[in-house]
Amino acid sequence: MSCLFCRIAAGEIPSSIVYKDDRVVAFNDINPQAPMHVLVVPVRHISTLNDLSTEDDALMGEIVRRGAAIAGERGYGEGGYRTVLNCNADAGQTVFHIHLHVLGGRSFAWPPG
Ligand code: 5GP
Ligand code: ZN
Repeated sequence: MSCLFCRIAAGEIPSSIVYKDDRVVAFNDINPQAPMHVLVVPVRHISTLNDLSTEDDALMGEIVRRGAAIAGERGYGEGGYRTVLNCNADAGQTVFHIHLHVLGGRSFAWPPG
């Protein structure tokens, strides 16, 4: 198993886990871009958004709702937070296992860079 986030989800590589069940894992980004920077990933390997099928709809809903729950638990629900799903090179995806960035604790510009 060579995928970094598969190995983190399996506990083979240490990370700062903030949530885990049998389908979804959330952990702190190693290079945080905001006071809160959590990555929410599926346990099952999915490389990019382009690889999603209808069977993944519930899973992606769980990932988004988990990100919202974590942001809410940390007090960012009302003030707001940023969620990002990068897909492939032009968006800056560097780890090819789907991950939802959940960032909070500062203001974010729009449009994004
Ligand atoms: P992407 O650019 O693919 O959307 O985001 C990949 C994210 O994974 C980056 O924010 C990067 O800091 C994070 N990352 C890369 N390697 C590791 C790691 O080994 N552990 C953790 N916790 N985060 C990582
Ligand atoms: Zn993977």
